[in-house]
Amino acid sequence: MAGERILVVDDSDEVRSILRSMVLEPAGYHVIEAGDGVSGLRAAREERPALIILDQQMPGRSGLDVLQTLQQEGLYIPTILMTGHGSEELAVRALRLGVRDYVIKPFELDEMVRAVQRGMAEDRPRSIEELGKANRRLEEQVREFATLSAIGRSVTSSLDLQTVLTRVVEASVFVTRAEEGFLLLTEPGGGDLVLRAAKNVDEKHARALRVPVRDSLAGRVVESGEPLLVTQGQPKVVTGYLVHALVYAPLRAAGRGVIGVLGVTNRREDRPFAERDVHLLSALADYAAVAVENARLYQEAEMERHKMRAVLRETEEGVVILNPRLEILLCNPAAGAALGLGLDVTGRSALETIHQPSLRDLLTTSSRTGRPLRGEVGTRDGRTYSAQVTPVEEVGFVLMMQDITHLKELDRVKSEFVSTVSHDLRTPLTTVRGYVDLLAKVGPLNEQQQEFVARVQKSITHITDLIGDLLDLGRIEAGYDLEMEPLHLEGIIDGAVEEFRLVAEEKGQTLRWKRRVLPLVRGNPRRLRQVIENLLSNGIKYTQEGGWVAVEATEEKGYVVVRVTDNGMGIPPSAQPYIFDRFYRVEREETETIEGTGLGLAIVKSVIEKHNGRIWVDSQPGQGSAFTFVLPVME
Ligand code: ADP
Repeated sequence: MAGERILVVDDSDEVRSILRSMVLEPAGYHVIEAGDGVSGLRAAREERPALIILDQQMPGRSGLDVLQTLQQEGLYIPTILMTGHGSEELAVRALRLGVRDYVIKPFELDEMVRAVQRGMAEDRPRSIEELGKANRRLEEQVREFATLSAIGRSVTSSLDLQTVLTRVVEASVFVTRAEEGFLLLTEPGGGDLVLRAAKNVDEKHARALRVPVRDSLAGRVVESGEPLLVTQGQPKVVTGYLVHALVYAPLRAAGRGVIGVLGVTNRREDRPFAERDVHLLSALADYAAVAVENARLYQEAEMERHKMRAVLRETEEGVVILNPRLEILLCNPAAGAALGLGLDVTGRSALETIHQPSLRDLLTTSSRTGRPLRGEVGTRDGRTYSAQVTPVEEVGFVLMMQDITHLKELDRVKSEFVSTVSHDLRTPLTTVRGYVDLLAKVGPLNEQQQEFVARVQKSITHITDLIGDLLDLGRIEAGYDLEMEPLHLEGIIDGAVEEFRLVAEEKGQTLRWKRRVLPLVRGNPRRLRQVIENLLSNGIKYTQEGGWVAVEATEEKGYVVVRVTDNGMGIPPSAQPYIFDRFYRVEREETETIEGTGLGLAIVKSVIEKHNGRIWVDSQPGQGSAFTFVLPVME
């Protein structure tokens, strides 16, 4: 009411002046001011204002201090508390002291005008009893709030569904002051509602508590998705017995509708529930629904994990999963056995745990380049594995290992057989060649005979080449004649280029070699020369007259990189994966007249791999090919 006195206690002249001139006087109030707690107390005692606007942070006595002192003296004056730092604890203390309103600085003028209006409203408690009642209600609210927040915490921190559901039911009974409470969940597939947690429900009854969705109050809540409050009138028969009052709240799960019901009942006493209990129970039901959903999702994820573990455990292939830092996340028994790893290697660094240097190389190279890599790995027990490392986004790397020992053995037997046969063919072939060469010497041959002899000689040369290549391949693969020594590749390339210069000139081709001094590599000079020769010979063979063939060699990241490039006919993409296979030749019109055994590149690959190197091809049909190999620089 205008004309009433309002006391403003604040140590800031500015705030006091704003409140006076912009909020209170325009509304017709009479303003009394105090600049600190002590003078505020005095003014309150002497002037008995209708309302106090009280700052909390003041030098000397704080706002709540002042208020408490006044109340101890029996002076209950409606108060608005102003504070610069709102906290939950302060708010609770303020409410307990019966503060009318709680305004956080900086405030808007309108906000303060409304607070003053509310503060001056007539319905304020006047008597001590009324104040006591208000305090109790506040305490109750604080208790409810604390209960709700504790349940919220346990939902997010506990994965044990039964514990959470039991807590939710206990909390429901506690905050609504009900006699008993229970939580029902619908059976999967939309069946009955089944009791999952209860408080104060007798055991006999609890065991039998199974409610059909149809024709039951709980079922009605499931179907409507709305809470239910029954409090007046005749006692109702609910789930088999009479109750005076009940509140049911639905458990709603996103995307799955209503999955259950949380209920509290009063059976013995006719004590009603109120709207407020419906709100509280609905909040608790929401928590329970979140907990049920969490548990379901967790269970699904666990099941998937179990399945995956079972598959990995049973599979014969070795599988190791690594994080981006190459620490082991999972290692199945097959991989553990193959690599001779202990039982629990999870979390350990693969580079420290795995003994095989070739596998460690594979892992470090793949992690450095981010590309998938494949290689052969020998283990201590003499077995050979084909290992593949694949980078996988958001995981790290997957290492798969297949036992190829038996394939290697087959390969070895086959090579041995081929070597033996080739060797045994050489002797009769030498005889054939000798006699054919003699033919012309023992008597004159007519023109046709000369042509036939020439054809026989050409075929013998082809067969001899073939046998030579086959024997070579056998020896290289068996590791014969492979003594290694430190060498300079540029010297070896020099020799090979000189040897082929004439051949290239005859075809009108340019042969380029960008010579550079290279670091030492460990290798067999004869075999490496054979590699360069094969690549140069192919370059010249499969390049048209007037084209070019170029060799370059550089050092990159601990490897010597040699590249033989031409601008010849190129290799179709479909043939590229096979050109390093034995006897593979590209069947095309333009290659028909070019002679070859199909073994040259197989030899090249074998030699490079025996030197711990790698070789690959890049080629465009009609434009040319580039064969690149890398050998590790000597430490
Ligand atoms: P060949 O004795 O047939 O030359 P290789 O093993 O050396 O056998 O090569 C296999 C096949 O790869 C060849 O038949 C040829 O089709 C193809 N090839 C090899 N090098 C080249 C190249 N520089 N340009 C085009 N094709 C090539």
